Amino acid sequence: MKRAKKSPSQKTWRRVRVGGIVQGVGFRPTVFRLARRHGLVGEVRNTAHGVELILGGLDGAIRGFLDELPRAIPAPGRIEQLTEEPTAPIPGCNDFSIAPSVSAKTIEVVIPPDQATCADCLRELFDPSNRRFGYPLITCTICGPRYSIIESLPYDRERTTMRAFPLCAECRAEYEDPEDRRFHAETVACARCGPNLELLSPSGPVACADPIFATVDVLRVGQIVAVKGIGGYHLACDATNEAAVAELRRRKRRQHKPFAILVNNLEVAAQYCTIGDVEASVLRSREAPIVLLKRRGPVLPEVLAPDNNRLGVMLPYTPIQHLLARHFDALVMTSGNITDEPIRHTEKGMRDLLGPVADFALTHLREIINPSDDSVVLVQRGEPVLIRRARGHVPTPLLSDVKMPPILAVGPDLKNACAFGLGQRVYFSPHIGDLEYPAAFRRHVEEIERFGKWFGEKPRAVACDLHPGYLSTQNAHRLAASWGAQVIEVQHHHAHIAACLAEHGLSGEIIGVAMDGTGFGSDGAIWGGEFMVASRAGFQRFGHLAYQSVPGGDRSIREPWRMLAAYLIEVFGVEFAEMILKRHVAASVDIQQVARVLSGPIRAPQTSSVGRLFDAVGVLLGFPTEITYEAQNAVAVESLCGGEQPPPYELQLSKAANVGPDDDPDVFEISLRGLFEGIVVDLETGVARETIAGRFHAAIIEMIVQGCRRIRERTGLAHVALSGGCFVNTILVEGACARLEAEGFEVLRRRVVPPNDGGIALGQIAVAATQMAAQ
Ligand SMILES: [Zn+2]
Ligand SMILES: [Zn+2]
Ligand SMILES: [Zn+2]
Repeated sequence: MKRAKKSPSQKTWRRVRVGGIVQGVGFRPTVFRLARRHGLVGEVRNTAHGVELILGGLDGAIRGFLDELPRAIPAPGRIEQLTEEPTAPIPGCNDFSIAPSVSAKTIEVVIPPDQATCADCLRELFDPSNRRFGYPLITCTICGPRYSIIESLPYDRERTTMRAFPLCAECRAEYEDPEDRRFHAETVACARCGPNLELLSPSGPVACADPIFATVDVLRVGQIVAVKGIGGYHLACDATNEAAVAELRRRKRRQHKPFAILVNNLEVAAQYCTIGDVEASVLRSREAPIVLLKRRGPVLPEVLAPDNNRLGVMLPYTPIQHLLARHFDALVMTSGNITDEPIRHTEKGMRDLLGPVADFALTHLREIINPSDDSVVLVQRGEPVLIRRARGHVPTPLLSDVKMPPILAVGPDLKNACAFGLGQRVYFSPHIGDLEYPAAFRRHVEEIERFGKWFGEKPRAVACDLHPGYLSTQNAHRLAASWGAQVIEVQHHHAHIAACLAEHGLSGEIIGVAMDGTGFGSDGAIWGGEFMVASRAGFQRFGHLAYQSVPGGDRSIREPWRMLAAYLIEVFGVEFAEMILKRHVAASVDIQQVARVLSGPIRAPQTSSVGRLFDAVGVLLGFPTEITYEAQNAVAVESLCGGEQPPPYELQLSKAANVGPDDDPDVFEISLRGLFEGIVVDLETGVARETIAGRFHAAIIEMIVQGCRRIRERTGLAHVALSGGCFVNTILVEGACARLEAEGFEVLRRRVVPPNDGGIALGQIAVAATQMAAQ
């Protein structure tokens, strides 16, 4: 950086452009105070690219200011680029000011994420002498909604949904006072000028002195309330009231999938769950996600999360949640929707819930423009892993080590999230969900339109899954045709591994272990237990779980007993398999039906999926023959495992009979014969289910180690990427990492983007960017 050569006493003028997370985080007020402290004059303004400063003063003072700036900005502010150049003086300028924002074609925006209520606002909320005492939408320069209410950039009140609420004289005075902590707080409001709460019943507004206390009253008697949050509506009920929770399950048509709970503070959470230091700090973070904690015995009703040794817990992150949570031991706080559809965030969405699902709605008129669910975090090996990337994390971009033209990645069909790559940044949409739901597919389309709106650029490439039947893939082809963009199809498991490489900024080859439920393989089979050597440019498969016929396609996913029957028939023959099912599976199932499909004239699809294997083993261990959410039985099997590490079941690695188009000529397959023989012997001899679950996990870990060892012998590679939905399983992750590291491997996992299909879009972008760079 060149410095102007001037005498120390002479005033100079510099233009400084700052990029990164610099809007909506109290950046301008910080600059304002700091500039005054250093005796500088000039101005600061938001632009479509970040923040621009014009500084006038002695060179030493400007240096001092710039040195101090990075340390002075409040979290979660982040300076990614800073450039400075000489500029002309501002005529007649003898003070420092915050200038009006300038808009332009937006291509480098960083939209601030939503922030949990800060400690200062919380103090005011509960201080009877404060003028915002009990004001349920209290915010300041560093906390409150951001992304969810921003219509366009730069970030100023008139481009947020707070535009509808003109400031009263007192709020205006705070907004304009440089010494006030609400100086230029774009979301500032109070009970007089801002939105206020209203409790609605299906027949209209409920007349009450205080909507919070009225809500507490109805929750106490077991009713269900839709509560407006930051990114959408939650459905709340008393989590200690088993009948209320069961009723919520019935109305939401959600039989088994866990409900998250909201508790007032860490001390309360510790009564229900064990909380480590990392978990505690994640719970208290300004992103305030749901954290999956180990349950501590049956303190809360089992119906909150059946067959699951974890419970999703969050602490209040909005003033409304703070006002409600302190009256309860625990509240269910689950996304306001039916089954697994996207979270409802509009007035109309709330009206649809009010009556059929919720008895009441606690709402206000601050509109939500950009919806998002709660983020979900799991701590593995002492590190937080994002399982669902949404509120608090979106839309903060991930930094890429390579520069790319505009690329849209549409993600996969399950756990969909899409992403937009531009320059050195990758922006994720919030978690959308399973595109088989029409409402989720509509949200998927909206999120893609949102990227268009933010960035004002047409993608040059659209990256998608290889699966021809995916709605996301078909949509990608349509979009690319309309934009004149190129389509880049990325094999699902390659995308899983490429996402891991991109997250860690690695460009070379790595051993990739991708394990999940379903992904379309390049040989037409359903993959999900794959060993590959992969780079961002391509992959070659070195091994996989032995193929197993799938009797009846998607039906075997929802009814894993069918998959179990198919494995058992393959290993033991129909008669013995039928006997095993009769003895160990409570529900009556018709194995002959499966046998007929398998021996019928139409060749059943083949799968190497570890997810399917988990679900099937779950049935054998007494869990449901039919499941209602993805990985239900896998979670149940993991939850059975205790601290001990029993010996693994036997596995055989051998050369595969068939070599697919992307396979190494010596591709190996792993037979499950020994595993099923071992489980059946253990069941017949009365070995505890917990031990069987432990031995099963040990076998999968052993399989990972043996597979990696074999690939290292062939290639010399010693870096392993573990990726795919199965690596949400902590027993697998911790076991596999410990064993691999003991054998000299270096193990990489995904933490910033979810290891499950929620992170696939990053892999698609990484592969597409590499292929485009090579063109
Ligand atoms: Zn605050
Ligand atoms: Zn006001
Ligand atoms: Zn996957």
